[in-house]
Amino acid sequence: MKIGILSAMDEEIQPFLSQLDNYSKEEYANNTFYLSEHSNHNLVIANSKIGKVFSSMTATLMIEKYGCEMILFTGVAGGVNPDLDIGDIVLANKLCQHDMDITAFGHPNGHCAGFGIYATPTKELLTLAKETANELNLKFIEGTIATGDQFIADSKKKDWIKSEFNADAIEMEGASVAVVCQTLDIPYLIIRSISDTAKEGAFMDFNEFLKVSAVESANFLKSILNKL
Ligand code: SAH
Repeated sequence: MKIGILSAMDEEIQPFLSQLDNYSKEEYANNTFYLSEHSNHNLVIANSKIGKVFSSMTATLMIEKYGCEMILFTGVAGGVNPDLDIGDIVLANKLCQHDMDITAFGHPNGHCAGFGIYATPTKELLTLAKETANELNLKFIEGTIATGDQFIADSKKKDWIKSEFNADAIEMEGASVAVVCQTLDIPYLIIRSISDTAKEGAFMDFNEFLKVSAVESANFLKSILNKL
């Protein structure tokens, strides 16, 4: 199978790349796509750059240009669920866009005409991921990820997202990748490790824990990949 391994930032994709024996590089759309093989699968690996636009574009390119038949996302997120500590894993079973707002027309927050509010990742991949997390004794939760084009470092905003969408974690790419994959009928999984708690000063935690949390997520993704 051809599998797309996607992140937003270099810091998130490097820990995955560093575990591969070799790969080639291809430049396209002002980005680098890494091509490799792993246990009978062809891999297309990239960090999209931050936010919904770049992540949607890269997911689409992986599917339409490179022929990926599955997309696995690895990266970090801000924790909303109080049970989550830095480094814990969140497996998205629902994703929404917290900054999608056409409430002026009577729709609920996050509603996207022709789609609805929530995307739901592929059940079989989620089951495999949970089995793998349990085998590895990882601390993880399965829950809702809220995505938007904002780094959330504000308790009020975070509480609003939590109450409005029942969110467990916040980030900037998951739901956009989910919408692309779901619309193109491509199985997908979104994995995040917690880097901060999205409250005031979150950038300090983010800067401190990005590296270690990105490694947690990438290692976990590699273990899932080994079972595919
Ligand atoms: N340091 C970067 C910006 C990082 S933005 C720069 O200067 O360019 C944060 C990234 O981590 C995004 O890719 C997002 O998906 C994730 N993330 C982690 N914590 C987050 C939070 N509290 N709010 C939103 N996104 C968060």
